[in-house]
Amino acid sequence: MTTFPEDLTCPVCKSPAKSTGPSYGPFQIECERCGTYRLTYPALTATSLLKDSHQLYLLSAALRYHSFHKTSVLLEHDNGDELIRSIPIPNDLIDAIDLILWHFADNSNRYSSVITFTPDNDYPIAATHDGEEFKYVIDSAKEEGYLEVGDEMPYAEKRVDCQLTRSGWQRIRDIKDRRIISDQAFVAMSFDSTLNFIYDNAIYLALKSCNFNPYRIDRQHFSGKVDDMIISEIRKSGILIADFTQNKPGVYFEAGFAMGLKIPVIWTCRDTDMNAVHFDTNHFSHIVWNDASDFESKLKARIEALYPRQKKGK
Ligand SMILES: [Zn+2]
Repeated sequence: MTTFPEDLTCPVCKSPAKSTGPSYGPFQIECERCGTYRLTYPALTATSLLKDSHQLYLLSAALRYHSFHKTSVLLEHDNGDELIRSIPIPNDLIDAIDLILWHFADNSNRYSSVITFTPDNDYPIAATHDGEEFKYVIDSAKEEGYLEVGDEMPYAEKRVDCQLTRSGWQRIRDIKDRRIISDQAFVAMSFDSTLNFIYDNAIYLALKSCNFNPYRIDRQHFSGKVDDMIISEIRKSGILIADFTQNKPGVYFEAGFAMGLKIPVIWTCRDTDMNAVHFDTNHFSHIVWNDASDFESKLKARIEALYPRQKKGK
């Protein structure tokens, strides 16, 4: 029996890593970027671990996330895309900053704790592409007043000391409050029966798996005016899903009303209907879907990015 070499290149991020395990796998890999994970032999020798190899940095982020949360993950030759969908992926810089703040909340045993990041190894924490992008997120968090960044070491030193400020702790509390307000999710969409399967097989399932209770007005029994009911139910909700498939005017009203109340709105639309979305709102980042399972996984990822703790429960 050949023994597997102890040193190898991490097949995900290509940095030097250590491995243990029998020569036929599965191996336990310890990578400074991706954390500790298990890997099958076919995955080690696979030519491509993802449908889109440009997304390998997201696979590093997924492995690091699960390593940190101690959920044992087995990377196989064909489950990379699924692993990516299982973690919060930031949609924009603000989400990436929030991921770094959450890292502080999880790792600080004192309000004044200092965390030293090594951007070239720690960039998967914010699901960024590389150390340079990670450092940009840190600098942006500093600009927002969330982080105090220790004496700027030259980037070549590759380490950066950070401390959370009062505003940073406030930001963490604001994110927590967003979920505490309500676990009701208001769903605004066309009630056309041809779209019921999308509600049942995508929206409902995604919300449930993120611990939200979906609320769709036509599914409840009520008497009285629909408008009053809509308004009071949106007020009670912690999130609103607005699907613009079939371009119904009511959905614009409900999304706008929620935005005015600072309730997060997730904009979605079937790909073939996207060109009908009104130009006043089509610049919002929509989840563009083509079938129920595609929609479910994208929606889940978006909710988890908004509410990073939603999955872990309270
Ligand atoms: Zn790695």
